[in-house]
Amino acid sequence: MTMEEAKKKFKITIVEERCKGCGYCKETCPKDVFEFEGTLNAAGYVVSSPKHLDRCIGCNSCVMVCPDLALSLSEEA
Ligand code: SF4
Ligand code: SF4
Repeated sequence: MTMEEAKKKFKITIVEERCKGCGYCKETCPKDVFEFEGTLNAAGYVVSSPKHLDRCIGCNSCVMVCPDLALSLSEEA
């Protein structure tokens, strides 16, 4: 594996207004990327935050598990 491959960076974007704070993303993520820090959206749900993106391996599990389609994964150039 080259250094470039090893340094591949991923980005998780959350649409906070869709999040219902269920925590499935946090439970599912193998790298413990998500945190709940008490931020409320307009509907009053405590939203998830992809805080530790440096740990993300791009497995897409969180995107698949989110029942509210709040998450998306992209690869940073
Ligand atoms: S893509 Fe995988 S490693 Fe990255 S935040 Fe989602 S579940 Fe975690
Ligand atoms: S799985 Fe989706 S709705 Fe549930 S806390 Fe995570 S981002 Fe929010």
